[in-house]
Amino acid sequence: MTSSAEHHEPDVIPDSELREHYEQLISQVRRHRTAYYQHDEPEISDAAYDKLYRELEDLEAMHPEIVANDSPTQDVGGDVSAAFTPVEHLNQMYSLEDVFSLQELTTWFTRTETSLHTIRPDMRPAWLAEVKIDGLAIALVYRHGVLERAATRGDGTVGEDVTHNVRTIKDIPQRLRGDNIPELVEVRGEIFMPSQAFREFNQQRAESGLAPFANPRNAAAGSLRQKDPALTAQRPLSMFVHGIGAREGLELTSQYETYQQLGEWGLPISPYTTFFSAESAEAAHQDVLDYIAQYGDQRHELVHDIDGIVVKIDDFDLQRQLGYTSRTPRWAVAYKYPPEEVHTQLLDIRVNVGRTGRVTPYAVMAPVVVAGSTVSMATLHNQDVVTAKNVKIGDTVVLRKAGDVIPEIVGPVLPIREQIQSGERDGEIRDFQMPSECPSCGEPLAPAKEGDVDLRCLNAEKCPAQLTGRIEHAGSRGAFDIEALGEEAAIWLTNGPGPDPAHNHGHVHPQGPGVLTSDAQLFDLAETNGDPDLKAALGEVKVWREKRVKDKDGHLVPSGTWQLQPYFYNQRGEPTANTKKLFAELDKAKEQPLWRVLVALSIRYVGPTAARALAVAFGSLPAIRKAAQSGDPEAFAHVDGIGPTIAEALVEFFSEPWRLKVIDAWAARGVRTEDERNQAMTKTLAGLTLVVTGTLEEFSRDSAKEAILARGGKATGSVSKKTDYLIAGANAGSKLDKAESLGITVLDEAGFQRLLEQGPDGAEG
Ligand code: NAD
Repeated sequence: MTSSAEHHEPDVIPDSELREHYEQLISQVRRHRTAYYQHDEPEISDAAYDKLYRELEDLEAMHPEIVANDSPTQDVGGDVSAAFTPVEHLNQMYSLEDVFSLQELTTWFTRTETSLHTIRPDMRPAWLAEVKIDGLAIALVYRHGVLERAATRGDGTVGEDVTHNVRTIKDIPQRLRGDNIPELVEVRGEIFMPSQAFREFNQQRAESGLAPFANPRNAAAGSLRQKDPALTAQRPLSMFVHGIGAREGLELTSQYETYQQLGEWGLPISPYTTFFSAESAEAAHQDVLDYIAQYGDQRHELVHDIDGIVVKIDDFDLQRQLGYTSRTPRWAVAYKYPPEEVHTQLLDIRVNVGRTGRVTPYAVMAPVVVAGSTVSMATLHNQDVVTAKNVKIGDTVVLRKAGDVIPEIVGPVLPIREQIQSGERDGEIRDFQMPSECPSCGEPLAPAKEGDVDLRCLNAEKCPAQLTGRIEHAGSRGAFDIEALGEEAAIWLTNGPGPDPAHNHGHVHPQGPGVLTSDAQLFDLAETNGDPDLKAALGEVKVWREKRVKDKDGHLVPSGTWQLQPYFYNQRGEPTANTKKLFAELDKAKEQPLWRVLVALSIRYVGPTAARALAVAFGSLPAIRKAAQSGDPEAFAHVDGIGPTIAEALVEFFSEPWRLKVIDAWAARGVRTEDERNQAMTKTLAGLTLVVTGTLEEFSRDSAKEAILARGGKATGSVSKKTDYLIAGANAGSKLDKAESLGITVLDEAGFQRLLEQGPDGAEG
């Protein structure tokens, strides 16, 4: 299947587009969080996610003024799925501060030792080092020793009720045994699938034709978060305790003492935890480093997978004094081990054409598991990178999941000559040659401007690969937000099945053209006013699927033989559930606000922020078109947030006849071309700056922001003296405290509604 390696194509974003970049980062992090926490199906490696997250943190640190109150850095992260009953935790559950190098760990350690010395100069703190179990957090409430409730971490405040599922896990006692059982205790721990059990379990799944889990963490989360506890009961799950929350009738003074007590009551305690009470800070630090080295060597021999180690201050009093950020305790830190490297064969280097025509070489490799998931492709960016990495087709290469969004080829395992001499190679090594013609449409490739390393296909309108990219983009969350129009649907709408994978290293390689040959046709598929011929053509779309056959033991295994099967329709010739959803969602998308239409059009540099600014300033697509067709970028100079780069892109976009055809075709199918509400809207919020925090009932984040912008107000992310109003919904956190301390007017949702309608007089009166 095509991987994101092929489709990842960051545009060069001008400095003035900082906010755009910021919002994109936020939306990427959110998307990966949803995939990870809600669906237990991450799309990228943890290291890749960590890098994205770090980038977001760094950007916020450099530009504190842009920090949005719903930024992923401000909360614990998980969502609560609608499939489970939400439960409020007795005490908040936290994440951990991550460090990714020994140097960062040292900095953290020194800083914390200094704070501790200020708090208690007379006391040498004791430390715990624990392995960081790669599973999912659980909170177990025992009342009078009886397991009453079990909940996932969720967003830290509210988790998912998984009590019935947890009752099926043998390691977790239903009833605490022994003495001193308190009235109430909330035990925190990590549920995991032991490594050995995971391998066997995955083997069985593969044998029965089910998709294997990418790693034990996903397997554990997917197994626990089942609607039917009977299914959870069949999964090999375990738990180790790693903390304690609310308690009544229980005196505990330290983390280590807590573990011992919980162990006595029959709860499973990690055998890998070590207690240090060193004489000096230096000695304590050395102890921690030794622990990291020891478990770095042994990490694959433990009962469960780990992704790092956790260092904690032992004493509860010191923990309390150091306290918490909104997301993490200040008395603990997680050190993450560097990503692992593996070797595999580089079978081919091919090129991919992205949404904007940029041509990117990518590696096709013999599939290999690296850092928990199977990888068979990695981007190579451009010819210069291929040359610099010195990789040739046929090489054995070093592959890792570095802190990039995608797997990375480090280089060949050995210099070519040595590979040949040592007999590792069959001598069939080829140099990669960047093609001079577009692999998708055959047009000549050229740099967009002189001196560019990247080559582009300039045939934007007709090139099938660019069309695929644009159709996928139109369905994305920041555009029309059509769930059934993801990467896969976009590929099969715009491409044919390509060559038989049996003759293509087992890789599916879609090739255009497909059913849709132009962006203009997108809404011809929608339910009402849909084009019957086009829909019938979808019924003919076929994709390659690998046949499975029974082996001698009767297990289903991949056969190496591929056959063409219908994709959008089932074998009986009816549209699949997802296809019906696609039609219905397209229909609904026509009602989306103007800014989403603008994003969906794939105008260079126009993301949600710029699109909102344009929609507010012009109110309609014809008005924007008219401004652009004046031919003068100055026509956009008055719009806050639209700099010269975007203005030029707009002028160019609206000068291309085929782009206008797309707009006209969409409009003819009923896609919104103006925000009527905007034009009629009185600017009740002119000159006012608002911050929204917490959860509102009638508004999402986006719609609250839109409502503010549409009335001439400014919506910002962080509370400062310049803030006029804080709109506080349910579960408002630190922003609310800050607003109160600055004496800023705080409104609830009803007050916000009045403010929108009547301006300041109405809201406060
Ligand atoms: P985290 O995994 O870095 O650390 C916090 C968690 O560690 C705690 O909640 C606890 O459940 C667990 N933990 C394990 N052993 C522990 C111990 N001995 N003591 C205390 N806690 C222990 O942070 P997070 O907020 O849970 O998740 C963020 C991480 O999840 C990322 O760093 C990334 O690795 C992963 N993630 C990946 C994706 C993706 O798309 N691949 C998306 C979101 C998150």
